[in-house]
Amino acid sequence: MNKRTFIKSLFLGSAGFLAMGSASKLKAGRARKKWNGEFVLPELPYAYNALEPYMDARTMELHYSKHHAAYTEKFNAAVKEAGLNGKTAVEILSEVSKYSPAIRNNGGGFLNHKWFWNMLAPATGKQPSQELLDALNKDFGSLDAFKEKFSAAAKSVFGSGWAWLIADGDKLKVTTTGNQDSPIMDIAAEKGFPLLCIDVWEHAYYLKYQNRRAEFIDAFWNVANWDFVSQRYTQFKTPKPV
Ligand code: MN
Repeated sequence: MNKRTFIKSLFLGSAGFLAMGSASKLKAGRARKKWNGEFVLPELPYAYNALEPYMDARTMELHYSKHHAAYTEKFNAAVKEAGLNGKTAVEILSEVSKYSPAIRNNGGGFLNHKWFWNMLAPATGKQPSQELLDALNKDFGSLDAFKEKFSAAAKSVFGSGWAWLIADGDKLKVTTTGNQDSPIMDIAAEKGFPLLCIDVWEHAYYLKYQNRRAEFIDAFWNVANWDFVSQRYTQFKTPKPV
């Protein structure tokens, strides 16, 4: 999948995106119509070693090819069992309180990691778009103050979970979730549209950082994909057709 096709797929929602994995040669619109309801492990948008030295290749390989693959497989099984085939992951998870823990845990694991890989990119030193920067300045005071708040939240997660930057109305907020929960779930304490997230499960960092989660979080900023996060914000801000 080339970068342009990949970016395009992000705006088509989960169904289009997921279909891309197995039908990357098809035009995105066609792929969406043909989606058979099965969730596909999305392609990693870079090589396992592309985020070195901040995230090591071995961890990336295990995290993607074992953990994310397992969530995807188990989510498909749970969706099939619940008779939910045809709904997108976002549709299912936004009403997750109606479904089994298997849907919540594996659906969350499937979608959270799909976002996470795209919220990372080889270190370029790029910064947020002006539009996003203005919003971060308004709600947190500065980019650095936002990073401090997000990092502190990530460090504070007890056990396994995630920290998030979300958009909610005209506000940007930092929040955390436990396990594989996310802010799009109806059971989330703080709901919103995810712009940036970090996985603070030990499987995300323990081979390189052992117990030093704080070092992993500090290193994360070097590979945060501000282009993608800025696009997510533009997507959130763009009025939807009625
Ligand atoms: Mn993970």
